[in-house]
Amino acid sequence: MSNGMKRLFGTCAGVLLATSLAVHAQQPPAHHWAIVIHGGAGVIERATMSPETEAAYRAALNQAARTGAGVLDRGGSSLDAIEAVIRIFEDDPLFNAGRGAVFTAAGKNELDAAIMDGSNLKAGAVAGVTRTRHPISLARAVMEKSPHVMLIGAGADAFAAQVGLEQVDPSFFFTERRWQSLVKQLKQEGRPIPQRPAGAPPAPSGPLAAFEPPNAHKFGTVGVVALDRAGNIAAGTSTGGVQAKQWGRVGDSPIIGAGTYASNQSCAVSATGTGEYFIRLGVAREICNLVYFKGLPLQQAADQVIHKELEALHGDGGIVAITPDGQMAWSFNTPGMYRARQQEGGKLQISIYNDEP
Ligand code: ASP
Repeated sequence: MSNGMKRLFGTCAGVLLATSLAVHAQQPPAHHWAIVIHGGAGVIERATMSPETEAAYRAALNQAARTGAGVLDRGGSSLDAIEAVIRIFEDDPLFNAGRGAVFTAAGKNELDAAIMDGSNLKAGAVAGVTRTRHPISLARAVMEKSPHVMLIGAGADAFAAQVGLEQVDPSFFFTERRWQSLVKQLKQEGRPIPQRPAGAPPAPSGPLAAFEPPNAHKFGTVGVVALDRAGNIAAGTSTGGVQAKQWGRVGDSPIIGAGTYASNQSCAVSATGTGEYFIRLGVAREICNLVYFKGLPLQQAADQVIHKELEALHGDGGIVAITPDGQMAWSFNTPGMYRARQQEGGKLQISIYNDEP
């Protein structure tokens, strides 16, 4: 080949390479990430909410959503975003998950959590753990490091310790606000009051400043659904369950298909509310089935299950949901649900009451 020909080939190859690099650089990512978060549903009403309490919840939702969005924006997986957000909530006494969890009638904090990967239908769940600081990370470890889907109680905590997850004294989860709320409920119902838990700080001399209206925290579970740039959706939920629960009661949150579900074939859902109804209806899977079998848009499927099927049973609560094509939804039949959502390139939306979008 002559030198002229060689130069020509070299130039052509260079142009081709540059063009393909430019095309590659211009190509939008396969999927725009999206995230939807809840911090529990319940009797959360503007009329009885103090401005300070409302501001505290909005700030917490803002921080959580930004953390999740940051993970997804850096190309992180939906599972990573979910775990990062829920770990923050589990450390925040505002929410009924991890530290800040409600008490059982026996005066304990028993924590439940689940996570599910929509790309392969793998799932991990734990119920009744009392020593693992971040139950959502334990649920993920069950999914990724054990041959099982669900572990309970002391065995689940032992597995957590074995895989190196932080263990704490059960009193770590104690908050005065939740303790007083338990005592109040048990007194009203004429039930025995358990001993103040060992390791709890001394009882305050005066009453606590009313931080929120009574019953606002009947619920307070946290949950996240996310779509990552690879197009995978996932769901995660973490809770202390319902206040004054007895006999090792477990709600919907760690039950795959009830309070938590994800499949790239349909949708990902995390629920909050009176778990017994959500278990009976298989709420999370029911919504995804309507998307999969009936081809319903996500919002319509969610509203049908929450406003028709759940209400028909007199159940209360709500859900957040997402699809691999980026539909985001929330639906609840309570006066409020702490919630936030954001899509890549879009604005972060934070809402509390049912008269907000
Ligand atoms: N669904 C949870 C449970 O029944 C409670 C909640 O969402 O607040 O355990």
